[in-house]
Amino acid sequence: MGRLLAARMRAMRYRALIMVALLPALLWGCERQDSLAEIRERGELVVVSRNSPTTYYQDKNGPTGFEYALSVLLADALQVELRMETVYNLHDLFAKLDRHSANIAAAGLTLTEERTARYPHSIPYYKLTPQVIYVTGDDRPRDLSDLVGKKVVVLSGSSHVEMLKALRSSEIPELQWEEIDEADTTQLLELLRDDRASLAIVDSNEFTVQQTLYPRQQVAFDLGREQDMVWYLPPGTDNSRLLAFINDFILRLQKDGTLTRLREKYFGHTEGVSRMNAFEFARNVESLLPKYEGLIKKIANEYQMDWHLLAAMAYQESHWDPKATSPTGVRGMMMLTRATARELGVDNRLDVVQSLRGGARYLKNIKRRLPKIIREPDRTWMALAAYNIGLGHLEDARRLTQRQGGNPNIWQDVMERLPLLQKTQYYKNTRHGYARGREAVTLVQNIRHYYSVLAWKEIPEIQPLPPMRADDYLPESLHGLELQAL
Ligand code: GLU
Repeated sequence: MGRLLAARMRAMRYRALIMVALLPALLWGCERQDSLAEIRERGELVVVSRNSPTTYYQDKNGPTGFEYALSVLLADALQVELRMETVYNLHDLFAKLDRHSANIAAAGLTLTEERTARYPHSIPYYKLTPQVIYVTGDDRPRDLSDLVGKKVVVLSGSSHVEMLKALRSSEIPELQWEEIDEADTTQLLELLRDDRASLAIVDSNEFTVQQTLYPRQQVAFDLGREQDMVWYLPPGTDNSRLLAFINDFILRLQKDGTLTRLREKYFGHTEGVSRMNAFEFARNVESLLPKYEGLIKKIANEYQMDWHLLAAMAYQESHWDPKATSPTGVRGMMMLTRATARELGVDNRLDVVQSLRGGARYLKNIKRRLPKIIREPDRTWMALAAYNIGLGHLEDARRLTQRQGGNPNIWQDVMERLPLLQKTQYYKNTRHGYARGREAVTLVQNIRHYYSVLAWKEIPEIQPLPPMRADDYLPESLHGLELQAL
């Protein structure tokens, strides 16, 4: 018995020894698992992002945003499902990579030295420049030394903190700043607006998109040169095949124009709207819109239309003035011509309800007549252009687009050709001749911009933020009732 026990003990010791000897190899094996194979096996790609208008957010049609759109395409290319995760600050985002609870961090992230030392990253897919933002009316800072003594806010865990630390140790020891524990730079601009900070550091792409909501804020100066935006991957995993796949994917999107299209879609509409317009718009959203919002919603609903779009069109047409008139004879909230009004059965153009209905119906008619192949949202933007210059000219611009090798079903491609309808060498070969194409483009881009701002204003209201109140689970008719009364 004694010998048997001793032998068993020996065997156990051997087994333990073998386990100890093998442990590093086993762990290594787990750690170095090929992430591409793992994603495919699981059938799911997990992307962590920040909840913000420039990255990933919910609008009334569901999830959207630049990073979301890219992630959807990547999951498609991998032929797996996409799971988006969000975090409430940048530390949590990288912590998720550390814990290997996401495959990719896609969140408008800048390529930095500290980050690259730890996390593998993709090739760049966008460029951005960090900028110092100030409130007009205050002294405009001209360079770095002007940041000293001011309350400067940045997102905590951001590339900007890394940059400020480097500047403090190399150039300006007195530099100070406050780190805000949020994921969305809108929070920084809010602090500026409420006079709780005097300067903010925000990336150029974020600021252009958000500026309309904060029309008194402006870029003081660029903080350094243009930087790369990249995706980061978890450390300590065999990411080589996944990275190769991602980099190929980005290159393909670059080559076939998808990246440019997505950039245009998510950031492009902010170009061209002047600061004055933006300022006035923000003011009118507060002062005028509430008067007409209910009516606009009701009429939009009658025509199964997004009310933000109808509101944006009405703003572009008349600045929400139901009595507006122009020397060219167009009138009312939607600035209808006499002929169009007659066609639409509008007998009093200065009647706000009739005018809004007329505009909504007119757009709907145009949309119905556009070829099916044009998909949303391009369909809406093209319909708006036709609303302005007529379907015939839009068709001319689409044909011209095709002749020049562009895609006649994509708004961005058509938008580039519309102004050519004003040049003889182009319009002489079209069916309908000269048209004020540039004006149509401005009109559409303005409407898109107003539309986005109005839709974004609602974001906080539609984000599914925890914790939810009990009422949120109940049908509306039961809201406000005591739970036990059920
Ligand atoms: N690009 C920044 C980063 O990588 C985040 C956005 C911002 O702070 O403006 O940390």
